[in-house]
Amino acid sequence: MRPVHRFRIEPVLPPAFAELRRVARNVRWTWNDRSRSLFADLDPTAWAASGHDPVRLLELIDQGRWAVLAADQRLVEEARAVVDELDQDATDTRWFQHRSDTPLDLVAYFSPEFGLTETLPQYSGGLGILAGDHLKAASDLGVPLVGIGLLYREGYFRQRLDADGWQNETFPPQDPAGLAMTPTGHQISLEVGGEHVAVAIWRVDVGRIPLYLLDTALPGNSEEAAGITDRLYGGDVEHRLRQEIVLGIGGVRALRALGLHPQVFHTNEGHAGFLSLERIREHLAGGLSWEAAVQAVRAGGVFTTHTPVPAGIDRFPPELMTKYFTGFAAQCGISLDKLMSIGLRADEPEENRFNMAVMGLRLAGRSNGVAALHGVVSRQMFQGLWPDVPVDEVPIGSITNGVHAHTWISPSIRSIFTSGIHPVWDGADADTWDAAHKLDDAAIWAARNRGRDELVRFVRSRLGEDLLDPDTLTIGFSRRFATYKRATLLLAQAERLIAILNGADRPVQFVFAGKAHPADQPGKEMIREVELFGRRADVDGRFVFIPDYDMAIARALYHGADVWLNNPRRPLEACGTSGMKAALNGALNCSILDGWWDEAYDGLNGWAIESAEEEADVARRDEREAASLFGLLEQEIVPLFYERHDDGIPTGWLERVKHGWATIGPVFTASRMVRQYSTELYEPAAAAANRMHAGGSEAATALATWKQRVAGAWNHVAVVSVDADDDPGQPGDPRPVAASVDLGQLTPSDVVVQVVHGPLDADGGFTHSVASTLDRVETLQDGTLRYSGAYVPAAAGPYGCTVRVLPSHPDLSTPMELGRIAWAG
Ligand SMILES: *Cc1c(COP(=O)(O)O)cnc(C)c1O
Repeated sequence: MRPVHRFRIEPVLPPAFAELRRVARNVRWTWNDRSRSLFADLDPTAWAASGHDPVRLLELIDQGRWAVLAADQRLVEEARAVVDELDQDATDTRWFQHRSDTPLDLVAYFSPEFGLTETLPQYSGGLGILAGDHLKAASDLGVPLVGIGLLYREGYFRQRLDADGWQNETFPPQDPAGLAMTPTGHQISLEVGGEHVAVAIWRVDVGRIPLYLLDTALPGNSEEAAGITDRLYGGDVEHRLRQEIVLGIGGVRALRALGLHPQVFHTNEGHAGFLSLERIREHLAGGLSWEAAVQAVRAGGVFTTHTPVPAGIDRFPPELMTKYFTGFAAQCGISLDKLMSIGLRADEPEENRFNMAVMGLRLAGRSNGVAALHGVVSRQMFQGLWPDVPVDEVPIGSITNGVHAHTWISPSIRSIFTSGIHPVWDGADADTWDAAHKLDDAAIWAARNRGRDELVRFVRSRLGEDLLDPDTLTIGFSRRFATYKRATLLLAQAERLIAILNGADRPVQFVFAGKAHPADQPGKEMIREVELFGRRADVDGRFVFIPDYDMAIARALYHGADVWLNNPRRPLEACGTSGMKAALNGALNCSILDGWWDEAYDGLNGWAIESAEEEADVARRDEREAASLFGLLEQEIVPLFYERHDDGIPTGWLERVKHGWATIGPVFTASRMVRQYSTELYEPAAAAANRMHAGGSEAATALATWKQRVAGAWNHVAVVSVDADDDPGQPGDPRPVAASVDLGQLTPSDVVVQVVHGPLDADGGFTHSVASTLDRVETLQDGTLRYSGAYVPAAAGPYGCTVRVLPSHPDLSTPMELGRIAWAG
């Protein structure tokens, strides 16, 4: 029997606690210990029963209990203090408010998922958690930013394993009224495949940052339209396209309905990329040409690519683009072919699907990968979009991801940092973090033991009392079960693994968690293998898989694991962030040098598993990498962990832990990441957008006209000759160089002429190079121009130089953006 009417009864709170509703509905409590403690103190039993969800907690406390609480002076005062703190936090001066003359007023940050708390299951993995951490750090830093996402009524799936260890999925519907969000009262509408779809806008408060979620599950919509925002990453490619239309196009309209006009639009991966098309449409309606509108949109656009796995990029077949964008192209006054061309690569003529990353790169003036190595890989992947540009100058930079420390840190490690490093340790610099080397071993070890103990109790409460041991070296592995992450790498040599697990006096235990995408059969197979291995009798409860991975399980693992294991196929892990969270809590990373670990590992702060990526035979490669991992475990990790000194403390181990904090603490936090985004991308983008939009967007029109003229004339630009001598020289001695250049129809102010020089490799190419500008000295009779200057070789050995001509205009975000360079020779 099911009810025919559904509604919600709002709890009646005594006046002294009424304002706690706001505290409960602002997810700031997820990183504010004081609010969390207060909620727990109100009613410990109800707090546990609520699943640590403050919104639910307030409903679960009964009227009798409220009466008792209202008479508790301490709690009444604490509630008032917590509310005051929330309000003060909303307006006080932070890092960003100290930036003088910043051009930045507002950033809109678009993402298909946001991982803020397990009580808002609107995330599937790293991309969403990163987005959640980005908003939280923006709040801490006072960066003016709003988030835009979708409200998935069924969230991401819940995972159960059946008797055979096979993943089963369920999609319990959620009632937004019971979640930490409020309706804004605003609605927008947009056309999706010829149908008008109404979209409601909800607001989630993330400290001082609002996150707006779009929701199509409205009574007036058709069943199909209402289902657009049903599930995160659910459905087929058409469903995905419909979601992305709502996110991108609907997202921009939602901002307008809310009266918001951000200068900067940051797209967290390509999924939200249609926002740029909507912004172009807005400019067209304002009278700009298509070309000028593109320039205006690019100026404020920031695009972050997150995956070197081509299958991870959305590509939509032409039939679907025709179905969903014919009307849109007509509204814009362009052909569908022209619109399609934004997502196609000239160097991949056989690929006819519309590529969201390609559009992202074209319609954003600034782009980046998410770790230094991922920047390198992305420049290779997308080099074809800038045909004349050398790979290391392809205009895709990198900003390494970071994690929101206060969300992920355990209370006991936090108090060690607060007293031993700095009261404001999150975001502190390397000099400050150097104090980690002097932290007290006994205190650290007590905190580590406590984290492990809590993890063991957590696992036992969920899976059974005979599992794990609180004093055993604990290795954690939790993340999406994507095949390239190779959760089963160690299982290929089961006997060797069992010997490690059951080491006499030196046992080891593994804790796994993670979901495979419902359509990913090989990923599910990996889960099954892990689960079945854990059920073997000879494993003796030392190898467990915790089902239904979420942020709560993740926290328990980060707080309790001694070693964080990560063995992806390099370089497919763009960044990886779970290792950063574990490291902040004092785990040591044992990882392939991929993503962030490639730049974080320094020989002492963890371990590097060999990557045999030159091995073409995949099975052979896996075997070699597994052998390296086994070797590290047997010869280094297990012995070091069990090498105990006074009072049973593993001094050598803790040396590494402390060194890990000193090197990782100042760098791999969301505080550093968001500051870097703000100064390196948001502020320059805001300045560019301000210029482009000033005075009726004249600058955008001028830039578009200039680009068309330069691109049209570029084929006649040439370096006619280079005059430089080939005599041996010494590092540091300047060498003169001159060149004759034919600019065709262009003028000297359209270009910059550079000498490019550097050491040479065995093939005679540059191993790396630097460019410096040459000065124009004269115009010859025949119209060619003479440029001259000097350069200083920085290294001994084979060395070379050449000359090139680049387009130059003050409103370019990079001289590479036209992809045109005229090279000598
Ligand atoms: C950090 C985190 C991730 C991402 O982990 P990776 O190591 O980047 O794969 C995924 N899910 C949860 C719950 C996380 O906390």
